[in-house]
Amino acid sequence: MNICVVGTGYVGLVSGACFAEFGNFVTCVDKDEQKIETLKQGKMPIFEPGLETLVQRNVAAGRLEFTTDLSKTIEGSLVVLIAVGTPQGNDGRADLSFVHNVARTIGENLGSYKVVVTKSTVPAGTGRRVREIIEEHAAEEHPFSVASNPEFLREGAAIEDFMRPNRVVLGVEDEMGAAILKDLYRPLFLIETPIVVTDVVTAEVIKYASNAFLATKISYINEMADLCEKVGADVHQVAKGMGLDRRIGSKFLHPGPGYGGSCFPKDTRAVKELAKDAGVELKIVSAVIDVNDSRIPRMADKIREALGGDLRGKTVCLLGLTFKPNTDDLRESPALGILDQLLEGGARVRAFDPAAMEIMRQTPRENVEYCSDEYEAATGAEALVLATEWNQFRGLDFERLKGLLKQPVLVDLRNIYEPAILRDKGFRYTGVGR
Ligand code: NAD
Repeated sequence: MNICVVGTGYVGLVSGACFAEFGNFVTCVDKDEQKIETLKQGKMPIFEPGLETLVQRNVAAGRLEFTTDLSKTIEGSLVVLIAVGTPQGNDGRADLSFVHNVARTIGENLGSYKVVVTKSTVPAGTGRRVREIIEEHAAEEHPFSVASNPEFLREGAAIEDFMRPNRVVLGVEDEMGAAILKDLYRPLFLIETPIVVTDVVTAEVIKYASNAFLATKISYINEMADLCEKVGADVHQVAKGMGLDRRIGSKFLHPGPGYGGSCFPKDTRAVKELAKDAGVELKIVSAVIDVNDSRIPRMADKIREALGGDLRGKTVCLLGLTFKPNTDDLRESPALGILDQLLEGGARVRAFDPAAMEIMRQTPRENVEYCSDEYEAATGAEALVLATEWNQFRGLDFERLKGLLKQPVLVDLRNIYEPAILRDKGFRYTGVGR
């Protein structure tokens, strides 16, 4: 099948490469010429484990190519997947301008039947609007199907998530669209992946409802962590005790600096605004957002307390800047929020991240030194703060760190380490919720 994936970001590039791996002929389109040029040279514009090999293999097999020419690609494709960004607009609603622009180009180039699929996370009703825009701009009348196929992959494990998803959601308007999409996902059907076939608007809501629910679990355990700190309980044991109940489940019960990244913050706000527009108040989602917004100042307070109540003139080593490990994505990263708070409080920061240094160095900041590894970052600092749980921070050499830090203070915002063991090693340890 000839397919076109519009937008070669985390979702579009991974989806395009995986659909090519399934045996389809995929053209990935982006308006960012530099991105396409990088891809044509066999290099990856993003860091995602396993992606480079997958892309190179499929390019070599002639199943995957890259272009900026959307109009031409649409002409030759049966399925057009829209995977462009839907960032947060000024009012908290999703900014759909990129999706609408693509819909217009599809309309202008609709020379034969196509299935137009929204993979981007979009508010309920977007599929209907995509249909209207295509119809408004179509020079000739051709039948087409609109569908919603929300993506659930996690950055850092995106290929595995795409190849072995918990489920595939297909929101369709008609049988033709449903049949073509089922055919596209046939390799997953063969490995017995549950496929939920529903209408377009329901599929759109499934995505927001899922993300808001996962965000709820995170804010919930973060509130429990606050409670545990006050009453002397250990939130890890609480999460374990809760999570073993299959009705609750153990995933997403890790306390920390709050959720970040390119999805949960914008999607929780977008679904809240979407509901408001529909006359519904999502009280739980509103509370989830409020709890999350309070996490960064709270983490900054922990660091301040660990440093004796004042950040002024202190040097802090900050390890991890991306919103989670195994990605270079810095969008809405809690670590960056913490970095800002440390600077506002008058501290100097020595920072290191395994994947984000190149991007960070492009915008130098006063009082921030970007270091080449965790030990250089620790040198001369008065506290070491673990903000993102990269694997390489899980086995730190604390004897060496003791010699490099001005004082042995560890603020472990991801609870990577056992408090008792670190205290035995002579560190003043602060974790979250224990
Ligand atoms: P991204 O910002 O990494 O990539 C989007 C790409 O679209 C950019 O390269 C941009 O240049 C391109 N683009 C924008 N307008 C275009 C146009 N008119 N023509 C061609 N290209 C265009 O975004 P992402 O993280 O891949 O997310 C894409 C969508 O998927 C969003 O709606 C997001 O919420 C959703 N999503 C993201 C993830 C994730 O983990 N990143 C997971 C699930 C769903």
